[in-house]
Amino acid sequence: MDANKIFDGADGIALARGAIDRLAQVKLSTTPFHYELWATHLSGARPALSEEIDRRLALGDAPSALSEELYERYFGSTRLSVEIIEASETIARELTEVAASLRDAGDDTGLYSEALEQAVQTFESGADRASTQTLLRHLAVATRDMAAKNRELSAQMAASSRQVETLQSTLQSVKLEALTDGLTGLANRKYFDETLRREIERNGGNVCLLLCDIDHFKRFNDTWGHLVGDQIIRFIAQVLRAHGEGDAFSARYGGEEFAVIMPRASLPCAVAAGEAINRAVKAKQLARRSTGEVLGAVTISIGIARHRAGERPNELIARADAQLYSAKREGRDRVNVDNTDRELAA
Ligand code: GH3
Ligand code: MG
Ligand code: MG
Repeated sequence: MDANKIFDGADGIALARGAIDRLAQVKLSTTPFHYELWATHLSGARPALSEEIDRRLALGDAPSALSEELYERYFGSTRLSVEIIEASETIARELTEVAASLRDAGDDTGLYSEALEQAVQTFESGADRASTQTLLRHLAVATRDMAAKNRELSAQMAASSRQVETLQSTLQSVKLEALTDGLTGLANRKYFDETLRREIERNGGNVCLLLCDIDHFKRFNDTWGHLVGDQIIRFIAQVLRAHGEGDAFSARYGGEEFAVIMPRASLPCAVAAGEAINRAVKAKQLARRSTGEVLGAVTISIGIARHRAGERPNELIARADAQLYSAKREGRDRVNVDNTDRELAA
C-alpha cells in the first residue's frame, strides 16, 4: 500500500527513531498501537490526526487516554477488519467440519444400504433358518449403529448452527460499530457517504440534503473545555434523532458538523425540518452536567440543497455546503437553501 511508503528506506528508519524518542518524551510505552499512531503523526501523512494530537496535548489531555481514543478513531477500522476476517474464518472452518460430517454420514448410509441390499439377496436366494437369524442380528446391530450415528450428527448440526448464529450476530455488531460514530451513536461519515450514494441511486431527484454546523463552537470549547464541547455535540445528535421523522437519515459528518439525508422529501419539507431543528437547538438552555452551571444556548447554521438529475453525491454536498457557508456569512443561526433549487421546485 502506498500509505506505507513513509516507512521505507532511510527516511523510514529516521521516522522510526523519531517516533520512539517521541514516545519516550510523552512517557508512553512502545506498544505497536502507540507506535503506529505516533509514527503516523510524526510523518505528517494524516494532517487531521496531527492537528488533533497537537491541539489536545496543548489543552493538557493525557497522552495515554488521548492515544487510545485517537487510535480507535483513526485506525479502528483496521481492528474491525481483523475481527471480521477472524469471524469469517471461524464460520468457514465450522462449515468445513459440517461438510466433512455430512460426507461421513453419506458414507455410513452407503454402507448401511449395501448391507440391506446383501440381506435382500441372501433372503431371495433361499437362506436357511440359521443364516437368516445371523443376518437379522447383523442388520439389527447395523440399524442401531446407524440410529446412533444419526443422533450424533443431529447434535453436531445443532451445535454448529448455534455457533454460526453467534458468529453472525458478532459480525452484525462489528458491522454496526464500523458504521456508527462513537461519541453520538449517529451514523458515521462512512455510513453517510454510502447512504447518500444509495439513496440518490434509488430515488433520483427526490433527495434533500441538510448540512448543519454548530455556531462559534470553538469559542464554546475554549471557554468550557473539550468535554463540555462533546456534551453539546451529543445534544445536537439527540435533537437530530428526535426530528428524524420517516426515513430521514442523520449522521455525524465531521467534528461538529452533521448531515441529514431526506429521501423522497420535497424542498419545502426539508426546509421545514431544518427550521424545526434550528429552533429546537436554540430553545434549550444547556447546563454543565457535572456542576449544573448554566452554559446558555447554542445555535446552529444549516445549508440545504435538493438533488438534481445526474448530479454526483459530491456535487450535492458541495451545494449544501455553499449554503451552509452563506448562512455563516449572513450571521449564523439560520437555514439557507439553494435558491436555484427553490426555483426548480416552484
Ligand atoms: P463557525 O460558527 O464558523 O462554525 O465557528 P466554529 O468555531 O464553530 O468553527 P471552527 O471550524 O473554527 O471550529 C470548530 C471547532 O470544533 C474546532 C474544534 O476544536 C471543535 N471540534 C471538532 N470536533 C470536536 C469534537 O469531537 N469534540 C469537541 N469538543 N470539539 C470538537
Ligand atoms: Mg465546522
Ligand atoms: Mg462551527
